[in-house]
Amino acid sequence: MAMVRIIYVSRMTDECDMEGIQEILNVSRKKNATQQITGMLCYDPMFFLQCLEGPRHAVNELYGQILRDGRHTDVLLLEYADIEARSFGGWAMGFLRSADIDPRTLAPFTTGKKFDPYQLTGAQARDLLITVAAQERKRLDAAG
Ligand code: FAD
Repeated sequence: MAMVRIIYVSRMTDECDMEGIQEILNVSRKKNATQQITGMLCYDPMFFLQCLEGPRHAVNELYGQILRDGRHTDVLLLEYADIEARSFGGWAMGFLRSADIDPRTLAPFTTGKKFDPYQLTGAQARDLLITVAAQERKRLDAAG
């Protein structure tokens, strides 16, 4: 089965709020599990940074739906890659607020004064998401 990974960044619109994000997560976790899609969604009051991985057809179809979603705009594709194995296998859709990420983790990915995901290369976006997913897994495991 051909598998791919997509990473994109986008800006949240006025159509979205914390309730909207919760709804996105609820739908995502149910739908992604049925489509064998895994990934991570990072949220900041200004942007979303999301990775989706799984069967090529399912990921492309979902990305098409996400592109049409009015709860965000300015969607910029940072990476589209064929993959041999998943990096987010344990997450139907992991979720992290940027405020929960250690600033020391963001520092190597920050070029200006403030972290701006629109400036990331695809490889940087992937490395950052893999790093924060591993940190979040460790935190959840420690919390029991
Ligand atoms: P519907 O909910 O009927 O959607 C029909 C269309 O309307 C879709 O294009 C949808 O994008 C759009 N839409 C739905 N609700 C709203 C709304 N409240 N405001 C504006 N437009 C809307 N879905 C997943 O299944 N998995 C994910 O990982 C995932 N990640 C997302 C990440 C972001 C940043 C955003 C904004 C959305 C994400 N979604 C995700 C939601 C996705 O866009 C669809 O809403 C969802 O998959 C259900 O789509 P549907 O076609 O089954 O049904």
